[in-house]
Amino acid sequence: MSEVALYAHPARLRAANWLRTLAALGVLIGTVAVLTLVFGRTGERIALLMCVNVAAVVALAVFCGNTGIVSFGHGAFMALGAYASGILTMPAGLQRSALPELPGWLSGYELSVLGALPLVLLVGLCFALLTGSAISRLQGASAAIATLGLLIIVHSIAISAREFTRGSQTFYGVPRITDLTFVLLAAIGVVIVARLYRESRWGLFVRAARDDEDAASALGIYPRRARLVAWTLSGTLATLAGALYGHILGAFSPASFYLGLVFAQVVMMIVGGMSSVGGAVVGVVAVTILQNTVRNLEGGITVVGVTLPEVFGLTTVSLGIAILLVIWLRPQGLVGGFELGPGAGARLLDRIKPTVPVTPTPRPVTTEILKARGLSRSFAGVKAVTDVSFDVPAGRITGLIGPNGAGKSTFVNLITGQYAADTGTAEIDGVHLTGLLRHRIIEHRVARSFQNLRLFSGLTAFENVLVAALAAGYGRKNANAVALRELKAFDLGGIAAMRADNLPYGARKRLEIARALAQDPAILLLDEPAAGMNPAETDDLADRLIRIRQDRNIGILLIDHDLRFVNRLCSHIVVMNRGQKIAEGTPEEVRANPEVIEAYIGRGRVARAADASSTQDQVLAN
Ligand code: ADP
Ligand code: MG
Repeated sequence: MSEVALYAHPARLRAANWLRTLAALGVLIGTVAVLTLVFGRTGERIALLMCVNVAAVVALAVFCGNTGIVSFGHGAFMALGAYASGILTMPAGLQRSALPELPGWLSGYELSVLGALPLVLLVGLCFALLTGSAISRLQGASAAIATLGLLIIVHSIAISAREFTRGSQTFYGVPRITDLTFVLLAAIGVVIVARLYRESRWGLFVRAARDDEDAASALGIYPRRARLVAWTLSGTLATLAGALYGHILGAFSPASFYLGLVFAQVVMMIVGGMSSVGGAVVGVVAVTILQNTVRNLEGGITVVGVTLPEVFGLTTVSLGIAILLVIWLRPQGLVGGFELGPGAGARLLDRIKPTVPVTPTPRPVTTEILKARGLSRSFAGVKAVTDVSFDVPAGRITGLIGPNGAGKSTFVNLITGQYAADTGTAEIDGVHLTGLLRHRIIEHRVARSFQNLRLFSGLTAFENVLVAALAAGYGRKNANAVALRELKAFDLGGIAAMRADNLPYGARKRLEIARALAQDPAILLLDEPAAGMNPAETDDLADRLIRIRQDRNIGILLIDHDLRFVNRLCSHIVVMNRGQKIAEGTPEEVRANPEVIEAYIGRGRVARAADASSTQDQVLAN
């Protein structure tokens, strides 16, 4: 799932990205040229089908690559496109004999292929919206099975709707397209649309939701809506590909769009690499060459005196072997695993002309205060959080400590709407957050990090932060600048172009905070940001958090087990144990509280906590 993607601003990386797509198109055009020049009419026919397959597979990858859900349902859109365009363009005389029972409102249009296209696309779009409203609710295997269901249903309908399709008999009389340039241009058009979509706001949203649905929701992204957009665009493009396919075949039946076609196209997509547009193109070219070579062998062939026997089904078997080999040797596909190394990101940082102030303007001290009042939540009898109330005011880092299982993370999840509270309320500046959909809570400028890293692993560091800024409502230019500002604030500029899952642990932890800050929050909830960091990294993080609090005057809730870290940063600490708040106050007050010593620190650790206090006193003294 890799491909470095950077946008409008970082011109160099964007160019590198487009170069890859252009290279893939170059492969396509080159293959078309060789086929027509060397193999004449047979080659031209293969080239025609290859171009249609490029359009179809790229359309398929618009959904599969960006959502991570393999679809078997795109054959349905292709059938729809082929039959719809066939009916609209068929000569009236032929139509009377081929489709005698066709309803009057549909018959006798005799449009040109291009004239029918807008109507065909509209039909595809409506059908995609209709089916997508259901399919976009599903994820993973259940979504894939639903798409298979769609294929089977549409296939059955095509067979039984005889007055429109001639049932399982051949549907004939469709005007033929033989113009290779036209089909090639259509394929290139589909590639460009797919490429633009992938980098667009909605493309980024759906890829973020693919990698981590919860984290995407916490940024204010609606995963279902993002999947619906992907499905609708993908289905509409597949309808276009289907119409072209129908016109190239001239005669077809429902079986032409069934499992055989779908299987071949899924293989093409996976062989090339479904996460990139270029991958889909290269996959089609590679598999087409393979298919046509093997097809010649299928009927038996004589090689240097040895006659190989006729092997039925060799083409299908070779597709199966191709997919196995690719999954085994190159799981990302032939065109996968590409990324720009460290350094490229640093160079691009210098090119940014900030369109938003590099230092965000601090807020007035009095505004934006998060108030939790009587929040409770239990899970099947386990009281995770019981009647917890406290404030997180702007301009202060509030500590939240307590032993494992105390309910700290659950508290954060109650604020951000990940879990619904059983009782109690959370409000920010007088607006109730409880009961709001979690996508809407971001509008009240609450951002969070997660205890276990929840980055979008298939996106670059830059995209991780960019997607947060876009979801927070920034326009593209400003979002670029905000993303780079936050990367810089966390010293991540140099690795902006690397995939999040390839970053070192400490960098990933910082990236998650940078992502939260790109949402321009008033309240930032950090769930164990220093966990797993070494002491130097922890100190560095503390410095950065202090600077952020000063520069931006935001309210921070900091959960951590490292008391030295918490004591250094927090002037106010809340202690939880077994779901309840047991103490609250300055670090000194909390440390002196017998209940805290009893329940949390324990006798053996009092000495170490006292140590920590001296560090904190120094900080306060400075
Ligand atoms: P902390 O972050 O302080 O370590 P948590 O908030 O993660 O504690 O957990 C508090 C309690 O709630 C634990 O007993 C935990 O097992 C329980 N808990 C948290 N989330 C869930 C959940 N989704 N389902 C069931 N139990 C949960
Ligand atoms: Mg926790």
